[in-house]
Amino acid sequence: MASNEELRKRKTYLQIAGFACSNCHQTSREDGTRTLLRCTRCRMSYYCSKSCQKADFSFHKQFCAAIEELSNLEEVWYSCNDKESEWNKRKIYHMQLLAAALDRDLTSYESNAWLNQPKCHVCFRTSRDSESRSALIPCTSCHVVFCCSNEHWEQHRSKHKSLCQTYQIMVQYHGTSETLWAPEEWDESLIYPPLPKDWSSYLKWRKAPQFNQLDALCRVITNSLSLPLTILSALERFYPRSQLRSFDELVIHLIGAGKYEVSALMSFEEIMHILPNIRTLQLILIGIELTSKTMGVSLQCCPRCTKADRKRIYSLHPISYHEYSASDDFITPQIVVGFNIGLNEEFWKPSVEFLIEKELPCIFTSYSKDEASQDAKMLKNLGAKIIVGAKENKWRSTMPLVEPQETDKFYYNNYYRTLLKGKRE
Ligand SMILES: [Zn+2]
Ligand SMILES: [Zn+2]
Ligand SMILES: [Zn+2]
Ligand SMILES: [Zn+2]
Ligand SMILES: [Zn+2]
Repeated sequence: MASNEELRKRKTYLQIAGFACSNCHQTSREDGTRTLLRCTRCRMSYYCSKSCQKADFSFHKQFCAAIEELSNLEEVWYSCNDKESEWNKRKIYHMQLLAAALDRDLTSYESNAWLNQPKCHVCFRTSRDSESRSALIPCTSCHVVFCCSNEHWEQHRSKHKSLCQTYQIMVQYHGTSETLWAPEEWDESLIYPPLPKDWSSYLKWRKAPQFNQLDALCRVITNSLSLPLTILSALERFYPRSQLRSFDELVIHLIGAGKYEVSALMSFEEIMHILPNIRTLQLILIGIELTSKTMGVSLQCCPRCTKADRKRIYSLHPISYHEYSASDDFITPQIVVGFNIGLNEEFWKPSVEFLIEKELPCIFTSYSKDEASQDAKMLKNLGAKIIVGAKENKWRSTMPLVEPQETDKFYYNNYYRTLLKGKRE
């Protein structure tokens, strides 16, 4: 469970939409028995009580003052002419102005709140734009999608109807630290490989009857377990089954690694549970987004693994993979993984050439078909032998994440995958 301080530092979607108290997360009710108070200065924070407003004040005051300052600059509230591209530009421009007013970068909490602020889904007006400063009208089911008027709801309703459920799922877990789940008991009559055919049979195998449908919590679980399972399914393609089960040590390179990989480190224990002969699992994270070099840190394992004296170790290298491959720290892995990294040619070329040259088994995932095809094309151009090219990944996350730059668009981690090894003949 996140601490109060962590809860306070994040901004959930319901808080941004004004449906939950910015301090204690209590929601307002549809029947109107409890409505939230709005901060009169910034009109972007909502509280269930005066005492919650007071409790949040020291945290909120700087950003609040900057928003008030911005609100008073009439010229920056120019019309977006019902265009989403204009709305996005204006949003980014406002963030620059806010940062200038604060004399520092926005925190992730602040940019999250600004990027996802309520707007009409038809004309992109905010409650700040209209003359009357009238409130936007929220959807009564998901509470986070708005229109400025009933007329615009008439226009948008049918499109929203098909997405409302996805918004509700997204809202439930937006901004929470991901729930991790590594079972200690499972049906041992079934052994890997191969992996079961889909998420439901997988969850059944792992004795998670409470998660036997793809409900919201189950989707959060797939978001963390997508990493180890995507790796296991790739290992299945690269190594014979008997060899896989006899691995004593498994070394994995996570390239282009950042927050996503670091926050999912615990979920990698699932690899040890599925491959019971591994004594040591080494996770080597390499990426320029990482902050400090860390070598060989042991992570706590479940009681069963601890008792069997099994180890899970991670290292962090805040450099490019190309630099890492030339360093003394380099250890040859059994598999190289890039989660949703987007292989843009200029940055990744030397690394990919190295991977091809060394004939290392690699898997890359991406959010969209377009990105996946671009990655596969780039790999092909560099002469890679593609084993699986830009195909849907069975072990993709089923948790919808909202795309702040495109209205009504969601994305899913590891949706597509591309596998390669060595050079094409
Ligand atoms: Zn409250
Ligand atoms: Zn305020
Ligand atoms: Zn509108
Ligand atoms: Zn809705
Ligand atoms: Zn364990």
